Amino acid sequence: MADQGNKRCFGEYRCPTCHRTWMSGNSWPNMGQECTKCHINVLAHKQTPLERPDGLDKSDLSKHHPQDLCEKCKQLGRYCGRVRR
Ligand SMILES: [Zn+2]
Ligand SMILES: [Zn+2]
Repeated sequence: MADQGNKRCFGEYRCPTCHRTWMSGNSWPNMGQECTKCHINVLAHKQTPLERPDGLDKSDLSKHHPQDLCEKCKQLGRYCGRVRR
């Protein structure tokens, strides 16, 4: 697949309805994640490239990635990130 501009990045989300914020290390350009409260798709308001995939231990990479909320996962039908070994 030749979609090189479509890389996973670190995203910050803010729900416009309930103002809940969350962050994800599995954030994709033009792909939203669903607010757990409002069940609306929210696009990241800020996205940072994942330059160092293992430099993100401060974030939620070790946490469970909510696949049912992630538009990319839903599109792929599987986990959108790299499976940890
Ligand atoms: Zn919300
Ligand atoms: Zn995902």
